[in-house]
Amino acid sequence: MGVIKKGKAYGLVRLNLKLLGVALLCLALGAGALTALGAAEGEGVDVPVVMYHALLKDGARQGQYVVSPAQFESDLRYLQEHGYTTVLVKDLIAYTKGEGLPEKPVLITFDDGYYNNYLYGFPLAEKYGCKFVLSPIGRYSDLYTDTPDENAYYSHATWAQLREMAASGLVEVQNHSYDLHQSRGGRLGVKKLARESDQEYRRMLAQDLTRAQSAIEAGVGEAPTAFVYPFGAFSKATPDIVKGLGFACTMSCEERVSRITRDPESLYGLGRFLRPAGPSSQEFFEKRMGLGP
Ligand SMILES: [Zn+2]
Repeated sequence: MGVIKKGKAYGLVRLNLKLLGVALLCLALGAGALTALGAAEGEGVDVPVVMYHALLKDGARQGQYVVSPAQFESDLRYLQEHGYTTVLVKDLIAYTKGEGLPEKPVLITFDDGYYNNYLYGFPLAEKYGCKFVLSPIGRYSDLYTDTPDENAYYSHATWAQLREMAASGLVEVQNHSYDLHQSRGGRLGVKKLARESDQEYRRMLAQDLTRAQSAIEAGVGEAPTAFVYPFGAFSKATPDIVKGLGFACTMSCEERVSRITRDPESLYGLGRFLRPAGPSSQEFFEKRMGLGP
């Protein structure tokens, strides 16, 4: 509870600073400018983003990247009971183009494309009418499509399973690279190597991300609009290249709530909160994410 109070106090301080800024600008620009400025200030919606990976019933496997299906269900119930509406990236893009968003939007994301997301997560999304973004590693979707092996512990979802989820309208499949989800040759995720020229790096990144785009479009029927940074890792040159490839949204692993405005630039570098096993739904959403009860 202490944390929530602190959050509220912080909000008030910030509001006062904003008012002070507006007052100063008002003095400088005159009252006419204040109305326009006020409208711009009031624009925007906070969009908390939750990051899950695997769902497993086996308590011995639960931890940072594995939560139980029961915990995920409890999270969905918490969000629903507290007036949150799950949205997808397409809803955020539509908002930047002038459409509305629910009053309390929340974005649920699953990284890496595990089969257990299909096995446990998708039925729960259907049960609660909740939506989530699923960002598979292209190479593994190919691998498990070619050699089917439905094991909750280690398998990845096939293209047919991803397509089935996307067709429901509850799941949006996004890009998490085709084959850069690793630390190989000194490269972590999509980071640039010191010995790599700008041009080599650009070519390497474009090739991999475009391959994932084509694979997802062929496998699921729709091309991704967002790129989810593997491990949240990127270099100085990365965001511009990703933007240049046509992605409208990128997601990081920085734990903060992002504010979406009508400016399409506000969809880049969205913060996300890792949901580990352990804390109750209330503890996680209210204490870790700072959401109001
Ligand atoms: Zn990942």
